[in-house]
Amino acid sequence: MQKQLLKKLCCPIDKSDLEVQIFTEQEDEILEALMTCPECNRFFPVIYGLPILIPDEYRDFDMEGEVLTRWGFILDEKSETPQLLPEASTTE
Ligand SMILES: [Zn+2]
Repeated sequence: MQKQLLKKLCCPIDKSDLEVQIFTEQEDEILEALMTCPECNRFFPVIYGLPILIPDEYRDFDMEGEVLTRWGFILDEKSETPQLLPEASTTE
């Protein structure tokens, strides 16, 4: 996904602007990132350069969960909408 495309993306549910956390990028291309909606708290990952901006019922959480775990996030399975649990607090 081209970086400049980010500005045009919004939450497919409520059209809010998304907050983006980039994990892997290559020149102007974003390969892995996490987008979150400040309005509904849903998250939308970018996996293999593809933004997963689709309605809840079409999401594949088995596939997404694997990537999220690698990024250090946990899927909130109790939530009705796709949300992440707060990052595990560091025990320092
Ligand atoms: Zn939203």
